[in-house]
Amino acid sequence: MIGSFTFENLPCRVVFGSGTLSVAKAEIERFGGKRALVLTTPQQEAQGKHLGAALGPLYAGIFSGATMHTPVEVTEQALTAMKSYEADCVVSLGGGSTTGLGKALALRTGINQLCIPTTYAGSEMTPILGETKAGLKTTVRDPAVLPETVIYDVDLTLTLPAGLAATSGINAIAHAVEALYARDTNPVISLMAEEGIRALAGALPAIAAKPEDRAARSEALYGAWLCGVCLGTVGMALHHKLCHTLGGTFDLPHAETHTIVLPHALTYNAPTVPEAMARISRATGTADAAQGLYDLAKRLGAKLALRDIGMPEAGIDKAADLAVTNAYWNPRPLERNAIRDLIARAWAGDPPV
Ligand code: NAD
Repeated sequence: MIGSFTFENLPCRVVFGSGTLSVAKAEIERFGGKRALVLTTPQQEAQGKHLGAALGPLYAGIFSGATMHTPVEVTEQALTAMKSYEADCVVSLGGGSTTGLGKALALRTGINQLCIPTTYAGSEMTPILGETKAGLKTTVRDPAVLPETVIYDVDLTLTLPAGLAATSGINAIAHAVEALYARDTNPVISLMAEEGIRALAGALPAIAAKPEDRAARSEALYGAWLCGVCLGTVGMALHHKLCHTLGGTFDLPHAETHTIVLPHALTYNAPTVPEAMARISRATGTADAAQGLYDLAKRLGAKLALRDIGMPEAGIDKAADLAVTNAYWNPRPLERNAIRDLIARAWAGDPPV
Protein backbone atom coordinates (compact mmCIF):
# COMPACT_ATOMS: atom_id res chain seq x y z
CA MET A 1 0.00 0.00 0.00
CA ILE A 2 1.24 3.50 -0.81
CA GLY A 3 1.13 5.59 2.35
CA SER A 4 0.55 9.34 2.46
CA PHE A 5 3.46 11.57 1.48
CA THR A 6 4.52 15.08 0.51
CA PHE A 7 6.63 15.61 -2.59
CA GLU A 8 8.33 18.90 -3.32
CA ASN A 9 10.14 19.37 -6.61
CA LEU A 10 13.13 21.66 -6.24
CA PRO A 11 13.36 24.30 -8.96
CA CYS A 12 16.38 23.78 -11.20
CA ARG A 13 16.92 23.44 -14.94
CA VAL A 14 19.09 20.49 -16.04
CA VAL A 15 20.87 20.06 -19.36
CA PHE A 16 22.46 16.63 -19.73
CA GLY A 17 24.68 15.03 -22.35
CA SER A 18 28.00 14.76 -24.10
CA GLY A 19 29.21 18.13 -25.40
CA THR A 20 26.59 20.17 -23.52
CA LEU A 21 29.26 22.58 -22.27
CA SER A 22 28.72 24.27 -25.64
CA VAL A 23 25.38 25.63 -24.42
CA ALA A 24 26.91 27.34 -21.37
CA LYS A 25 26.78 30.77 -23.04
CA ALA A 26 23.14 30.32 -24.07
CA GLU A 27 22.23 29.13 -20.58
CA ILE A 28 23.82 32.21 -18.97
CA GLU A 29 21.92 34.44 -21.38
CA ARG A 30 18.74 32.52 -20.55
CA PHE A 31 18.80 33.76 -16.95
CA GLY A 32 19.93 37.23 -18.01
CA GLY A 33 23.61 36.98 -17.04
CA LYS A 34 25.96 39.53 -18.65
CA ARG A 35 29.26 39.12 -16.78
CA ALA A 36 30.11 35.65 -15.47
CA LEU A 37 32.76 34.88 -12.87
CA VAL A 38 34.08 31.35 -13.44
CA LEU A 39 34.88 29.41 -10.24
CA THR A 40 37.30 26.45 -10.09
CA THR A 41 39.84 24.77 -7.82
CA PRO A 42 43.52 25.50 -8.58
CA GLN A 43 43.66 22.04 -10.23
CA GLN A 44 40.92 22.93 -12.72
CA GLU A 45 41.98 26.53 -13.46
CA ALA A 46 43.08 25.76 -17.03
CA GLN A 47 39.73 24.12 -17.74
CA GLY A 48 38.00 27.19 -16.31
CA LYS A 49 40.00 29.56 -18.51
CA HIS A 50 39.17 27.44 -21.53
CA LEU A 51 35.49 27.75 -20.67
CA GLY A 52 35.97 31.51 -20.15
CA ALA A 53 37.35 31.86 -23.67
CA ALA A 54 34.29 30.05 -25.03
CA LEU A 55 31.98 32.44 -23.17
CA GLY A 56 33.39 35.40 -25.13
CA PRO A 57 32.01 38.76 -23.97
CA LEU A 58 30.08 37.09 -21.12
CA TYR A 59 33.35 36.12 -19.39
CA ALA A 60 34.22 38.54 -16.58
CA GLY A 61 37.12 36.62 -15.01
CA ILE A 62 38.11 33.58 -12.98
CA PHE A 63 38.51 32.79 -9.30
CA SER A 64 40.41 29.52 -8.96
CA GLY A 65 40.75 29.27 -5.18
CA ALA A 66 37.85 26.89 -4.41
CA THR A 67 38.78 24.32 -1.78
CA MET A 68 37.25 21.59 0.41
CA HIS A 69 34.72 22.44 3.16
CA THR A 70 34.00 25.95 1.79
CA PRO A 71 36.09 28.03 4.24
CA VAL A 72 34.52 31.45 4.86
CA GLU A 73 37.87 33.20 4.17
CA VAL A 74 37.92 31.76 0.64
CA THR A 75 34.32 32.89 0.10
CA GLU A 76 35.35 36.40 1.17
CA GLN A 77 38.21 36.41 -1.36
CA ALA A 78 35.79 35.25 -4.06
CA LEU A 79 33.36 38.02 -3.07
CA THR A 80 36.14 40.57 -3.57
CA ALA A 81 36.90 39.05 -6.99
CA MET A 82 33.20 39.16 -7.87
CA LYS A 83 33.06 42.88 -7.07
CA SER A 84 36.30 43.78 -8.84
CA TYR A 85 35.20 41.94 -12.00
CA GLU A 86 31.70 43.44 -11.67
CA ALA A 87 30.28 39.97 -12.14
CA ASP A 88 26.51 39.49 -12.14
CA CYS A 89 26.52 35.65 -12.15
CA VAL A 90 28.84 32.73 -11.43
CA VAL A 91 29.73 29.57 -13.32
CA SER A 92 30.95 26.83 -10.96
CA LEU A 93 33.02 24.30 -12.88
CA GLY A 94 34.18 21.36 -10.75
CA GLY A 95 33.26 19.03 -7.91
CA GLY A 96 31.42 19.61 -4.65
CA SER A 97 34.08 22.03 -3.38
CA THR A 98 33.59 24.42 -6.29
CA THR A 99 29.81 24.03 -6.23
CA GLY A 100 29.94 24.88 -2.51
CA LEU A 101 31.76 28.15 -3.21
CA GLY A 102 29.15 29.16 -5.83
CA LYS A 103 26.39 28.42 -3.32
CA ALA A 104 28.15 30.44 -0.60
CA LEU A 105 28.29 33.43 -2.97
CA ALA A 106 24.62 32.99 -3.90
CA LEU A 107 23.64 32.89 -0.21
CA ARG A 108 25.37 36.22 0.40
CA THR A 109 24.48 38.07 -2.80
CA GLY A 110 21.53 36.27 -4.44
CA ILE A 111 23.64 35.94 -7.59
CA ASN A 112 22.50 33.48 -10.28
CA GLN A 113 24.55 30.29 -10.70
CA LEU A 114 25.26 28.05 -13.65
CA CYS A 115 26.75 24.90 -12.17
CA ILE A 116 28.80 22.43 -14.23
CA PRO A 117 29.62 19.43 -12.01
CA THR A 118 32.61 17.28 -12.87
CA THR A 119 32.32 14.72 -10.03
CA TYR A 120 29.39 12.69 -8.68
CA ALA A 121 29.04 14.49 -5.32
CA GLY A 122 25.53 15.80 -6.09
CA SER A 123 25.77 19.13 -4.25
CA GLU A 124 24.35 20.98 -7.29
CA MET A 125 20.95 19.38 -6.63
CA THR A 126 20.68 20.35 -2.97
CA PRO A 127 19.59 23.48 -1.10
CA ILE A 128 22.29 22.61 1.47
CA LEU A 129 25.53 24.50 2.06
CA GLY A 130 28.26 23.38 4.45
CA GLU A 131 30.76 26.09 5.41
CA THR A 132 33.73 26.20 7.78
CA LYS A 133 34.78 29.10 9.96
CA ALA A 134 37.72 28.81 12.36
CA GLY A 135 37.68 25.03 11.87
CA LEU A 136 33.98 24.69 12.71
CA LYS A 137 31.61 23.31 10.08
CA THR A 138 28.07 24.63 9.94
CA THR A 139 25.32 23.58 7.58
CA VAL A 140 22.53 25.78 6.28
CA ARG A 141 19.50 24.75 4.25
CA ASP A 142 18.20 27.55 2.05
CA PRO A 143 16.58 27.38 -1.41
CA ALA A 144 18.58 30.51 -2.31
CA VAL A 145 21.72 28.38 -2.74
CA LEU A 146 20.22 26.16 -5.46
CA PRO A 147 21.78 26.81 -8.88
CA GLU A 148 19.45 28.20 -11.55
CA THR A 149 20.85 25.82 -14.18
CA VAL A 150 23.02 22.70 -14.12
CA ILE A 151 24.89 21.40 -17.15
CA TYR A 152 25.97 17.77 -16.87
CA ASP A 153 28.52 17.37 -19.67
CA VAL A 154 29.71 13.77 -19.68
CA ASP A 155 32.90 14.77 -21.54
CA LEU A 156 34.13 16.75 -18.52
CA THR A 157 34.02 13.64 -16.34
CA LEU A 158 36.37 11.70 -18.62
CA THR A 159 39.34 13.27 -16.81
CA LEU A 160 38.07 12.28 -13.36
CA PRO A 161 40.68 9.69 -12.33
CA ALA A 162 39.24 6.17 -11.89
CA GLY A 163 40.02 6.19 -8.16
CA LEU A 164 38.12 9.45 -7.62
CA ALA A 165 35.29 8.24 -9.85
CA ALA A 166 34.95 5.14 -7.64
CA THR A 167 34.72 6.96 -4.30
CA SER A 168 32.72 9.87 -5.69
CA GLY A 169 30.30 7.36 -7.24
CA ILE A 170 29.83 5.46 -3.98
CA ASN A 171 29.37 8.81 -2.21
CA ALA A 172 26.45 9.37 -4.61
CA ILE A 173 25.08 5.86 -3.97
CA ALA A 174 25.06 6.68 -0.25
CA HIS A 175 22.60 9.56 -0.89
CA ALA A 176 20.21 7.17 -2.63
CA VAL A 177 20.61 4.45 0.00
CA GLU A 178 19.58 6.78 2.81
CA ALA A 179 16.81 8.31 0.69
CA LEU A 180 15.21 4.86 0.44
CA TYR A 181 14.66 4.76 4.19
CA ALA A 182 14.33 8.50 4.89
CA ARG A 183 11.54 9.47 7.28
CA ASP A 184 10.11 11.77 4.59
CA THR A 185 10.74 9.55 1.58
CA ASN A 186 8.12 9.13 -1.13
CA PRO A 187 7.50 6.80 -4.09
CA VAL A 188 9.04 9.17 -6.66
CA ILE A 189 12.27 9.54 -4.70
CA SER A 190 12.42 5.76 -4.20
CA LEU A 191 12.22 5.28 -7.97
CA MET A 192 15.01 7.78 -8.51
CA ALA A 193 17.11 6.27 -5.72
CA GLU A 194 16.88 2.71 -7.02
CA GLU A 195 17.60 3.81 -10.58
CA GLY A 196 20.53 5.97 -9.40
CA ILE A 197 22.09 3.05 -7.52
CA ARG A 198 21.55 0.73 -10.49
CA ALA A 199 23.17 3.16 -12.93
CA LEU A 200 26.22 3.79 -10.73
CA ALA A 201 26.74 0.21 -9.55
CA GLY A 202 26.80 -0.88 -13.19
CA ALA A 203 28.92 1.97 -14.51
CA LEU A 204 31.67 2.21 -11.88
CA PRO A 205 33.30 -1.18 -12.62
CA ALA A 206 33.15 -0.38 -16.35
CA ILE A 207 34.91 2.98 -15.70
CA ALA A 208 37.56 1.24 -13.56
CA ALA A 209 38.21 -1.22 -16.39
CA LYS A 210 38.21 1.43 -19.13
CA PRO A 211 38.32 5.06 -17.91
CA GLU A 212 37.64 6.45 -21.40
CA ASP A 213 34.36 4.46 -21.70
CA ARG A 214 32.01 7.34 -22.54
CA ALA A 215 28.87 5.21 -22.23
CA ALA A 216 29.81 4.15 -18.71
CA ARG A 217 30.75 7.74 -17.77
CA SER A 218 27.38 8.83 -19.06
CA GLU A 219 25.52 6.20 -16.99
CA ALA A 220 27.50 7.23 -13.91
CA LEU A 221 26.76 10.94 -14.32
CA TYR A 222 23.07 10.18 -14.90
CA GLY A 223 23.08 8.09 -11.71
CA ALA A 224 24.87 10.87 -9.82
CA TRP A 225 22.22 13.36 -10.87
CA LEU A 226 19.43 11.09 -9.59
CA CYS A 227 21.28 10.50 -6.32
CA GLY A 228 21.85 14.25 -5.94
CA VAL A 229 18.09 14.85 -6.27
CA CYS A 230 17.55 12.27 -3.51
CA LEU A 231 20.00 14.10 -1.24
CA GLY A 232 18.36 17.45 -1.91
CA THR A 233 14.79 16.30 -1.46
CA VAL A 234 14.63 14.07 1.62
CA GLY A 235 16.43 13.88 4.96
CA MET A 236 19.52 11.77 5.55
CA ALA A 237 20.24 9.61 8.61
CA LEU A 238 22.99 7.70 10.46
CA HIS A 239 25.35 7.22 7.52
CA HIS A 240 25.52 10.91 6.56
CA LYS A 241 25.67 12.05 10.18
CA LEU A 242 28.51 9.65 10.91
CA CYS A 243 30.50 10.72 7.85
CA HIS A 244 29.95 14.38 8.75
CA THR A 245 31.23 13.74 12.29
CA LEU A 246 34.20 11.61 11.20
CA GLY A 247 35.19 13.98 8.40
CA GLY A 248 34.96 17.06 10.60
CA THR A 249 36.60 15.59 13.71
CA PHE A 250 39.53 13.79 12.05
CA ASP A 251 39.78 15.84 8.82
CA LEU A 252 39.12 12.78 6.63
CA PRO A 253 38.55 13.01 2.86
CA HIS A 254 34.83 13.30 2.06
CA ALA A 255 34.16 10.70 -0.66
CA GLU A 256 36.54 8.07 0.76
CA THR A 257 34.93 8.33 4.19
CA HIS A 258 31.49 7.75 2.64
CA THR A 259 32.81 4.78 0.68
CA ILE A 260 34.21 3.09 3.78
CA VAL A 261 31.32 3.77 6.17
CA LEU A 262 28.37 2.99 3.87
CA PRO A 263 28.24 -0.86 4.13
CA HIS A 264 28.58 -0.68 7.91
CA ALA A 265 25.93 2.01 8.44
CA LEU A 266 23.61 0.07 6.15
CA THR A 267 24.17 -3.14 8.12
CA TYR A 268 23.24 -1.26 11.31
CA ASN A 269 19.95 -0.08 9.80
CA ALA A 270 19.20 -3.28 7.83
CA PRO A 271 16.85 -5.00 10.33
CA THR A 272 14.51 -1.99 10.35
CA VAL A 273 14.40 -1.28 6.60
CA PRO A 274 13.69 -4.53 4.69
CA GLU A 275 12.06 -2.80 1.73
CA ALA A 276 15.04 -0.51 1.18
CA MET A 277 17.40 -3.51 1.48
CA ALA A 278 15.43 -5.36 -1.18
CA ARG A 279 15.58 -2.38 -3.53
CA ILE A 280 19.34 -1.93 -3.02
CA SER A 281 19.92 -5.65 -3.62
CA ARG A 282 17.88 -5.46 -6.81
CA ALA A 283 19.71 -2.33 -7.97
CA THR A 284 23.17 -3.78 -7.30
CA GLY A 285 22.32 -7.33 -8.40
CA THR A 286 23.52 -8.80 -5.11
CA ALA A 287 21.85 -11.07 -2.54
CA ASP A 288 23.12 -9.00 0.41
CA ALA A 289 22.93 -5.23 -0.11
CA ALA A 290 25.57 -4.20 2.46
CA GLN A 291 28.04 -6.94 1.51
CA GLY A 292 27.40 -6.07 -2.14
CA LEU A 293 28.41 -2.44 -1.55
CA TYR A 294 31.52 -3.54 0.37
CA ASP A 295 32.46 -5.88 -2.50
CA LEU A 296 31.85 -3.10 -5.03
CA ALA A 297 34.26 -0.77 -3.20
CA LYS A 298 36.83 -3.56 -2.97
CA ARG A 299 36.48 -4.43 -6.64
CA LEU A 300 37.01 -0.76 -7.53
CA GLY A 301 40.24 -0.70 -5.54
CA ALA A 302 38.91 1.85 -3.02
CA LYS A 303 40.27 2.00 0.50
CA LEU A 304 38.17 -0.05 2.91
CA ALA A 305 39.50 1.06 6.31
CA LEU A 306 39.23 4.40 8.11
CA ARG A 307 42.69 3.74 9.56
CA ASP A 308 44.07 3.91 6.01
CA ILE A 309 42.72 7.41 5.44
CA GLY A 310 44.07 8.94 8.62
CA MET A 311 41.69 8.14 11.48
CA PRO A 312 43.48 7.28 14.75
CA GLU A 313 42.28 4.17 16.64
CA ALA A 314 41.79 6.29 19.75
CA GLY A 315 39.16 8.21 17.78
CA ILE A 316 36.71 5.28 17.68
CA ASP A 317 35.23 5.99 21.10
CA LYS A 318 35.16 9.73 20.54
CA ALA A 319 33.30 9.23 17.25
CA ALA A 320 30.80 6.86 18.92
CA ASP A 321 30.14 9.42 21.65
CA LEU A 322 29.65 12.22 19.13
CA ALA A 323 27.39 10.06 16.95
CA VAL A 324 24.85 9.71 19.77
CA THR A 325 25.28 13.17 21.32
CA ASN A 326 23.15 15.24 18.98
CA ALA A 327 20.05 13.13 18.57
CA TYR A 328 18.74 12.90 15.01
CA TRP A 329 16.22 10.70 13.30
CA ASN A 330 17.34 7.25 12.17
CA PRO A 331 15.19 4.21 11.29
CA ARG A 332 16.90 2.23 14.07
CA PRO A 333 17.35 3.95 17.42
CA LEU A 334 20.92 5.08 18.09
CA GLU A 335 22.64 2.56 20.38
CA ARG A 336 26.06 3.72 21.48
CA ASN A 337 27.73 0.29 21.77
CA ALA A 338 26.42 -1.02 18.46
CA ILE A 339 27.53 2.23 16.79
CA ARG A 340 30.95 1.87 18.38
CA ASP A 341 31.20 -1.66 16.90
CA LEU A 342 30.18 -0.32 13.50
CA ILE A 343 32.88 2.38 13.60
CA ALA A 344 35.48 -0.13 14.84
CA ARG A 345 34.75 -2.43 11.88
CA ALA A 346 34.95 0.49 9.46
CA TRP A 347 38.20 1.58 11.09
CA ALA A 348 39.74 -1.88 10.63
CA GLY A 349 38.28 -2.42 7.15
CA ASP A 350 36.41 -5.60 8.13
CA PRO A 351 33.45 -6.78 6.05
CA PRO A 352 30.06 -5.62 7.38
CA VAL A 353 28.22 -8.00 9.73
P1 NAD B 1 36.17 18.12 -4.81
O1 NAD B 1 35.23 19.08 -5.40
O2 NAD B 1 36.96 18.57 -3.63
O3 NAD B 1 37.16 17.61 -5.96
C1 NAD B 1 38.28 16.81 -5.63
C2 NAD B 1 39.43 17.13 -6.60
O4 NAD B 1 39.14 16.58 -7.88
C3 NAD B 1 39.65 18.63 -6.81
O5 NAD B 1 41.02 18.88 -6.89
C4 NAD B 1 39.00 18.89 -8.15
O6 NAD B 1 39.52 20.00 -8.82
C5 NAD B 1 39.30 17.59 -8.88
N1 NAD B 1 38.36 17.27 -9.95
C6 NAD B 1 37.02 17.39 -9.92
N2 NAD B 1 36.49 16.97 -11.07
C7 NAD B 1 37.51 16.57 -11.86
C8 NAD B 1 37.59 16.03 -13.16
N3 NAD B 1 36.49 15.75 -13.89
N4 NAD B 1 38.80 15.75 -13.66
C9 NAD B 1 39.93 15.94 -12.92
N5 NAD B 1 39.91 16.43 -11.66
C10 NAD B 1 38.72 16.75 -11.14
O7 NAD B 1 35.46 16.74 -4.37
P2 NAD B 1 33.94 16.28 -4.30
O8 NAD B 1 33.96 14.94 -3.68
O9 NAD B 1 33.26 16.48 -5.59
O10 NAD B 1 33.27 17.32 -3.29
C11 NAD B 1 33.49 17.23 -1.91
C12 NAD B 1 32.95 18.46 -1.22
O11 NAD B 1 31.59 18.68 -1.59
C13 NAD B 1 32.96 18.33 0.29
O12 NAD B 1 33.39 19.56 0.86
C14 NAD B 1 31.50 18.05 0.65
O13 NAD B 1 31.17 18.47 1.94
C15 NAD B 1 30.78 18.81 -0.43
N6 NAD B 1 29.44 18.27 -0.72
C16 NAD B 1 28.36 19.05 -0.41
C17 NAD B 1 27.09 18.60 -0.68
C18 NAD B 1 25.91 19.47 -0.38
O14 NAD B 1 24.79 19.11 -0.68
N7 NAD B 1 26.11 20.62 0.21
C19 NAD B 1 26.89 17.35 -1.27
C20 NAD B 1 28.00 16.57 -1.57
C21 NAD B 1 29.29 17.05 -1.30
